[in-house]
Amino acid sequence: MSEVLYRKYRPQKFGEVVGQKIIKTILQNAVRLEKPAHAYLFTGPRGVGKTTLARIMAKAVNCLAPAEGEPDTICQNCEGVQAGRFLDLIEIDAASYTGVDNIRDIIEHVKFTPSQGRYKVFIIDEVHMLSRAAFNALLKTLEEPPAHAIFILATTEIHKVPATIISRSQRFDFKRMAMAEIMEVFEKITLDSQLKIETEALKLIAQAADGSIRDGLSILDQVSSFSAEEITLAQTEDILGIARLSSTQNFIDKMIIGDQQGAVKFVKDLSFQGKDLTQWTRSVLEYLRLILLVKIDSNNLAEIGLSTEENVKLGRHAASLPAGRLMEFIKHMLEAYRTTKISPVAELPLLMAVMTLLPENNAPSTFVEATADRQPPLSSKGGEDGLSNYPPATTSDHLQSVTIIDLGTVLDHWAEVMNKIKEYNHSLVSSLRLARILRIENLDVVLVFPYSFHKDTIDARKNKIIVEQVLEEVFGHPLRIKLFLERELGKDKDLLSEAVKVLGKLE
Ligand SMILES: [Zn+2]
Repeated sequence: MSEVLYRKYRPQKFGEVVGQKIIKTILQNAVRLEKPAHAYLFTGPRGVGKTTLARIMAKAVNCLAPAEGEPDTICQNCEGVQAGRFLDLIEIDAASYTGVDNIRDIIEHVKFTPSQGRYKVFIIDEVHMLSRAAFNALLKTLEEPPAHAIFILATTEIHKVPATIISRSQRFDFKRMAMAEIMEVFEKITLDSQLKIETEALKLIAQAADGSIRDGLSILDQVSSFSAEEITLAQTEDILGIARLSSTQNFIDKMIIGDQQGAVKFVKDLSFQGKDLTQWTRSVLEYLRLILLVKIDSNNLAEIGLSTEENVKLGRHAASLPAGRLMEFIKHMLEAYRTTKISPVAELPLLMAVMTLLPENNAPSTFVEATADRQPPLSSKGGEDGLSNYPPATTSDHLQSVTIIDLGTVLDHWAEVMNKIKEYNHSLVSSLRLARILRIENLDVVLVFPYSFHKDTIDARKNKIIVEQVLEEVFGHPLRIKLFLERELGKDKDLLSEAVKVLGKLE
């Protein structure tokens, strides 16, 4: 992702940094009084200015002519820091170096007096990534730091930093930036770079930035690359909408195929990126509403106005989520939406929703799908019982290589299934012949019967075993059968209208 504008927004003094007022004041005072702490711990979401302030602090304590706690930005030391060639500023990204050896190297450095400035400043980014041994080595240094050393530790995940490190540091909790603060930066930058964009469009981007100036500028970058003319609100809406929708659709993909680990990782990544999880959960709910609309009437699909690719995906999601399952998704995501707002750990309610909806990891070794071009005649009745005609979700890319048993395949071999069953038990076939194959759902062949007598016959334990054994013989894979009565499918309609009511309360 391009970060052109983010690099352009590079405040060189405390006064130029937008937001984090209290933190700036305390740091500036420490410089003014020449009493910096030996260890600072900067915690907070990504892209809110932790590293920026750490570098300004490193510059300020080493500036040859500071004024009121501000670096002058023009002396030899300031210029050295700004150009990234100041020997007494050591920056480490703990995400790439987590071993104890690297920390030992640093500790070797700590012993020596600064070569250019007054202080040796060590900025350790993503400090929570350090190994246990590395933390222990760091702790020893923090217990008796040399007078000339300053450590600035930055992290997005404070709960992973040992209490012993936290207690030896001066801790600053960086806040998400307010809309007005992000707008302030945006206005300055658009002016400086002569970028033409409608104010309403800027506001929308500021909102989408979720309090992260880095994310905000990266979106602004993307949007600005789309047009040489003035960027409009409508264009911005389009671009933002695409990003949000594809994230939501990817998540729903994982939920539908039962990829618990993938879904958990998805949520954790969002949290790591400092995304506003409440807003994100809301966008999931809005997407579930679209699925619902399509389930109620597949004609709605054309009117929703998504791009072709998204539209196809939406259709598939609607087809592969049975009404009852969709209702569960809605209920648990709604619960997560309500609780993320008040939860001290924002990702927790979402993770709970994922774990409740997917108690086991079923990232399928076999994924079952019906493809569009093999749409079987038997399922064409689907629309009438509230189940859309659209084919169930296709596999995502990483699943393409696995065995695929789709509805078409099952139908093609159904005669063979019947013949084999006949060998076991003749009367079973007459019951089974009345069933229609509604769909393939994960590893279930869903059969619908007009009368309960026939359904019950197949449902009898010993008979079910026979049918499933034959299915495995024919398709080379264990498949289960799931039986319904035609009239039971009517229940889907009730579930769908209940879901409409539940989602209606979202506003
Ligand atoms: Zn200076």
